[in-house]
Amino acid sequence: MSNFPHISEANAGAILTIDLDAIVANYRMLVDRTPEASVAAVVKADAYGLGVDRIAPALAGAGCRVFFVAHIEEGIHLRHVLNDTGVSDFVNAEIHILGGLMAGTEEAYDASRLMPVLGSLDEIHNWKDYCRKIERPLACDIHVDTGMLRLGLPPKELDKLVEEPARLDGMNIVNVMSHLACADEPGHPKNAEQLEAFRIARILLPQGQASFANSAGIFLGADYHFDLVRPGLALYGGSAVPEMPNAMAQVVKLQGKIVQVRDVDTPQTVGYGASHRVEGPGRIATVPVGYADGFLRSLGNKTTGHIGNIPVPVVGRVSMDLITLDVSAVPKHQCSVGDLVDLIGPANSIERVAEAAGTINYEILTSLGHRFHRVYVGAG
Ligand SMILES: *Cc1c(COP(=O)(O)O)cnc(C)c1O
Repeated sequence: MSNFPHISEANAGAILTIDLDAIVANYRMLVDRTPEASVAAVVKADAYGLGVDRIAPALAGAGCRVFFVAHIEEGIHLRHVLNDTGVSDFVNAEIHILGGLMAGTEEAYDASRLMPVLGSLDEIHNWKDYCRKIERPLACDIHVDTGMLRLGLPPKELDKLVEEPARLDGMNIVNVMSHLACADEPGHPKNAEQLEAFRIARILLPQGQASFANSAGIFLGADYHFDLVRPGLALYGGSAVPEMPNAMAQVVKLQGKIVQVRDVDTPQTVGYGASHRVEGPGRIATVPVGYADGFLRSLGNKTTGHIGNIPVPVVGRVSMDLITLDVSAVPKHQCSVGDLVDLIGPANSIERVAEAAGTINYEILTSLGHRFHRVYVGAG
């Protein structure tokens, strides 16, 4: 999981800086935007690749008491992380597992005080059985599918549950939840359809709290907030609604170290496939960050780093461990071996990099590799 070995600054080919103050500021901003709801934090996939060990305690310090992860193993790990803080409020935080209940894992849920998000009658049956066996009403959520066709009770199973309410006996339902498919497109008609379906589901299943909105859902307005919102991306500085200006503080900076600078006097090609030709005179800098580090191969000849304010385009293909940048425009004294190139930063937001790569900001974050020197700045 997040326990990659620590790589020193001297030994690393790149430095990944993660701003915990920015994450906390983003959490507080979402709290302010949702006055009627409480705000959980989605920290699945090692907090979107940024490191749950540091981020979860920082969020707990900002008042977050409800966490969501995808897998039970992520939940077990997070429980250890929160226990290790020794702060009783943090130790007792709720940890919900979005991926649902795999048969045979009930005891492991119980042992780490994890709450499964139950998404089928079979899962509900197994949880009920386990609660009866141990004679304790364990906490859980019920997930209702309102249009993802992925997880959650399909309409027929919801009807059956309403006809036979005893299926829910002996368990403690904390949240009834659903998930939006198109919240990043505010004008999409599916948003209102899902909202209507969720309201009906709430009439049928009024237990516990209602939880509906992810990051983008929060920006759809108060109708979508209900009792508990579940942002992930926005906490990490991601723009949740591409057509709106990004309201979140930037969290991530990636700087690669120049390991070679080559002068080009006569026309030459760079890298695999000879996909870029340097006419010269000019200079090419090599930086040890490649697709094995999550600098996606589709960025070859597509993105631009910065040295100070000067753009330095990535030229040629991205290799497994290396990229090459055209630094001809940078004064020599600003780009020699050991100098840093901003690959993700103020001028290269994760959104810009994602667009250049033909993907989304989520994938840029979660791909960030484990060979960087990681620096956490701010709270925590
Ligand atoms: C990942 C996830 C979230 C968080 O989504 P963001 O778009 O990152 O805010 C919320 N709810 C569910 C069910 C998820 O799977």
